[in-house]
Amino acid sequence: MHKTIALIKGDGIGPEIVDSAVEVLHVIEKKYGHSFDFVEVAAGGNAIDLTGEPLPKESMDACLNSDSVLLGAVGGPKWDTLPGHLRPERALLGIRKGMGLYANLRPVKLFPALKGASPLRADLIDKGFDILIVRELTGGIYFGERGRSQGPDGEEAFDTEKYSVKEIRRIGKIAFDTAMLRGKKVCSVDKANVLESSRLWREVMHELAKEYPDVEYKDVLVDNAAMQLISNPSQFDVIVTSNMFGDILSDEASQLTGSIGMLASASLGEGTRGMYEPIHGSAPDIAGTNAANPIATILSVAMMLRLSFGMEEEADCIEAAVSKVLEKGTRTRDIAKGSDSFVSCTEMTESIVAEM
Ligand code: NAD
Repeated sequence: MHKTIALIKGDGIGPEIVDSAVEVLHVIEKKYGHSFDFVEVAAGGNAIDLTGEPLPKESMDACLNSDSVLLGAVGGPKWDTLPGHLRPERALLGIRKGMGLYANLRPVKLFPALKGASPLRADLIDKGFDILIVRELTGGIYFGERGRSQGPDGEEAFDTEKYSVKEIRRIGKIAFDTAMLRGKKVCSVDKANVLESSRLWREVMHELAKEYPDVEYKDVLVDNAAMQLISNPSQFDVIVTSNMFGDILSDEASQLTGSIGMLASASLGEGTRGMYEPIHGSAPDIAGTNAANPIATILSVAMMLRLSFGMEEEADCIEAAVSKVLEKGTRTRDIAKGSDSFVSCTEMTESIVAEM
């Protein structure tokens, strides 16, 4: 297969971790006879320095002309004082909107070798966990009407949570379809005891559940879901939820695995093209020191191969190599325990490449 991949290296540790992921993709090319064209795209702080804007039109066009986008991370203290519309993070919103990426998929998986890194008690994670959080990404309260006004008690502010049946159904379908390929369980998280938008959310999910008789479905209120993630994470397979609840719960869940440097994500819309990125930021504190953990970005590439290119075996090959390297005890600093020795970003990449 031949695929074009837009590479947004971004800022901070972005270039280091994207270079690692590209090395892994070169192995996939050789081993499976594929060819990838890599198109480097400026976005984020580096694009502001070059062009004055976080997402120049040529960059958006390059993403739209690609088969998928791989992003390192954007942002850093250098650009923190710029006005909101010129901040590096604006590039992310622009790409999501421009590419119509309405579903964010975040796997939260405990690698057996890293059980010790989880902050949860051993008996709570005995059975391990492999959760996929499907978060709605382009609707809800983050995009609803907002404003400020003067009320009887002084200044007031409001934000609006609004969802259409179409928006709920399309994110629900992604959750159910993905569940069919995994553990066949969907948990929909809402706040239907209080919010009208959640009551509509629940109605649509129930309708959809009828179309997937093989999937075990349940509703959980968001406050309960926050507790259950800590007290019994192994019960979950796919969790589907709104933009804001997903934002909060996916960060909570990410902590269960021990390090932010391990977690990948995919943003998808209609069709197969997506944007793939680690869930962490640009880590300016360790940028340029070759200390970053490249695994989240390498696992993001595995997601790209599986979800956008249908390369199941190739994705398995990357994930198995990561598992083996961890089982052998190879650690970057963020996942090393106490005084244990650790390797650099490039050494971790070399170990994974050697396992592949
Ligand atoms: P961060 O995720 O960059 O860093 C938090 C902590 O985790 C830091 O101590 C960092 O060193 C560590 N860390 C993160 N990734 C790591 C990795 N791969 N290996 C080892 N350690 C790692 O979050 P932050 O410090 O809040 O944000 C820094 C910048 O990144 C900000 O400008 C923020 O806006 C931006 N950001 C970008 C994205 C993105 O591009 N998707 C996401 C979040 C934050």
